[in-house]
Amino acid sequence: MTMVVDVAIERGVGGLDRLWSYLPGPLDGVSPKIGYRVAVPLGRASATGIILAERDVDAAEFSDLKTVSRVLDDHPALTPALASLALWMSERYLCFIGQTVRAMIPPGVRQGLAGRAPEPMRWQAGVAPSARAHRQQEIFQWLVEHVGSTKEEVLAAFPHSEGPWLQLRKSQGAKPMGPPELAPIPSGPELNSEQARAVQTLSQGTGRWLLEGVTGSGKTEVYLDCIAAELDQGRQALVMVPEIALTPQTVSRFQLRFGQRVAVWHSGLSAGERVSTWNGVRQGIYQVVVGVRSAVFLPFPQLGLMVLDEEHETTYKQDEHPRYHAREVAEERARLEGAQLILGSATPSLETAYRARKGEIGWLTLTKRANQRSLPHVSAVDMRKELKQGNHEMFSRRLMEAITEALSRHQQVILFLNRRGYATYIFCRDCGQALRCPHCEVTLTYHQESNRISCHYCFFEGSPPPRCPACDSPRIRYFGAGTERVVEAVARIWPQARVLRADRDSLSGRASHERLWKTFSSHGADILVGTQMIAKGMDWPMVTLVGILAADVALNFPDFRSSERTFQLLVQAAGRAGRGEAPGQVVVQTYNPEHYAIRYALEANYEGFFQEEIGFRQQAGYPPFSQLWLLEVRSPELKRAAAGAQEVASMIRSVLLDDVQILGPAPAPLARVRQHYRFHVLLKATLPASGALRQVAEMLRDRSDVQITVDPYFML
Ligand code: ADP
Ligand code: ZN
Ligand code: ZN
Repeated sequence: MTMVVDVAIERGVGGLDRLWSYLPGPLDGVSPKIGYRVAVPLGRASATGIILAERDVDAAEFSDLKTVSRVLDDHPALTPALASLALWMSERYLCFIGQTVRAMIPPGVRQGLAGRAPEPMRWQAGVAPSARAHRQQEIFQWLVEHVGSTKEEVLAAFPHSEGPWLQLRKSQGAKPMGPPELAPIPSGPELNSEQARAVQTLSQGTGRWLLEGVTGSGKTEVYLDCIAAELDQGRQALVMVPEIALTPQTVSRFQLRFGQRVAVWHSGLSAGERVSTWNGVRQGIYQVVVGVRSAVFLPFPQLGLMVLDEEHETTYKQDEHPRYHAREVAEERARLEGAQLILGSATPSLETAYRARKGEIGWLTLTKRANQRSLPHVSAVDMRKELKQGNHEMFSRRLMEAITEALSRHQQVILFLNRRGYATYIFCRDCGQALRCPHCEVTLTYHQESNRISCHYCFFEGSPPPRCPACDSPRIRYFGAGTERVVEAVARIWPQARVLRADRDSLSGRASHERLWKTFSSHGADILVGTQMIAKGMDWPMVTLVGILAADVALNFPDFRSSERTFQLLVQAAGRAGRGEAPGQVVVQTYNPEHYAIRYALEANYEGFFQEEIGFRQQAGYPPFSQLWLLEVRSPELKRAAAGAQEVASMIRSVLLDDVQILGPAPAPLARVRQHYRFHVLLKATLPASGALRQVAEMLRDRSDVQITVDPYFML
């Protein structure tokens, strides 16, 4: 018997997509072990890979194996648990193992730029900077008053001042004092009885839990106490949040409790920041990470707890290879590490809620808002009636009255509209055609500020044409309301109100996000107009009124989760109201007041919604009662895409059993994107049917025009 190592080739696609066995040595220096990056001979060339497994084989098997050429780093790139996780992921999501490994390790680390872990340092004021450098002067003065601050604290006080700070350091205006002492972890507020019971239960052992708590019920305080207990035991904790919820406010709650132990992980980090954070985690300098979905791959030496906050958010599903869902990956990692997993939400995904109710995972509930505040009063307005009664504004009379009243009391208002831009589309009154993107089959969005039209899928941009491209009529007009038009209407009706707009067009990057949060928090504006995605997780106590202008937008999506999404969006948006001392009110405008997703959302009745929706899912055979696979066939030529899809569908028909239903092929709802025609075939398998599905995957392995998404969330 001798030991061999199994290596995933980093660039291995197609035929190279498997593990390759090598003899480990003898080599000088570090010996090749699980998780290390290595150079190996492959055919006549050399390739880079990662060792994912070790095993003992007998002589017959290893006789013609080659030997690892070199170990590339002095530390592993994956912990043993992460190496196993990589294998699990490529099985689960049918993706190349090399691709999976690439997604798990930041590019800088893969390029061998291991870098040093950041050493937190305390600073004091040194030589005064020249009077002309104003920002440096300001920072210098601040340092005089805040001796012993860290760089992070300086930059928190002076956002976007990295440049002046570096200059100040270079000119000796700031002098190092040595590493900060890690302050002892302070205790949080005294927990109420529901919270205390949750923490008590969670402390009794590891497992998987749903923490179902209404908005503002104090879930975060539960996480904080559980994390403190893990740190006490010398283990680390990971808190995952949807990208949009990774606000300065969220992060500061963790920093207040755990100080320098906290690192943040998100898409806005530079390559260098990624490397140093990754190293700091690997070396146990950062014991708590607050991050987005890819944080699930950080190399914690001894991970004790994972929290997935807002677990229902679809941003946890990655929309490109490898198409993983962070909830499932976290669950598998928790299993591999023997760690605890807490899934938190006020509106859990149907899948998670169902498992909790069946007893497959633990179930904890928080039923009241933590600080004795009551849930806001929510009411619906039927917009069909408004129109009949002659109100052509985008605001119902009830909402207008409520806004006027809130403004007169100097309270803040949030108006949500899930649509960007000024008008959703430009529309011809003669031929009825909407203006479409020349590259994708979707309507173009008109942006008033820039007087431009743009495609939100391929980012095509242009000026609005004076005449209809289809029939040459000059009678084309703007149709539908976007956030920009709401702002305009607000300015017309309430000229005294100070208005902020928050959507993906007005907010680019974290800096503008932070500015928005600060401005609105300090009551620098009265009304915030935004898409619902933006204000998620924000806690603004001065907001007493939330208006949801068009509750139906999400209902009209061609997706079996559209009711679930609508319910979740409405409840989460309503959760922004009345978080302070004054009671909150929510007005929901809708053309479908009798739809069950809207009815239950008005009552914040999750259980009622769940029961009705789960019945529908069972009847229609949708998840969690089935597994879906989306096959997408693409081609620049319409004919080839259509024929390819037909071919794939009949190929599958020839092998599949009765328990797999084949839907399609059909043109995708977005029939053409980035010059490619797209066809969809949807496979719906009653559980468990993984054997049959695996056969399909094998068959389609070499077709580069077909992409398979296991458990699709984005089916446009
Ligand atoms: P969730 O995460 O469920 O939305 P949070 O943890 O953000 O709820 O709590 C909502 C508000 O209630 C926050 O301002 C928080 O500081 C406060 N809070 C939570 N738990 C307590 C408690 N036990 N005592 C006092 N205030 C609390
Ligand atoms: Zn026309
Ligand atoms: Zn386009």
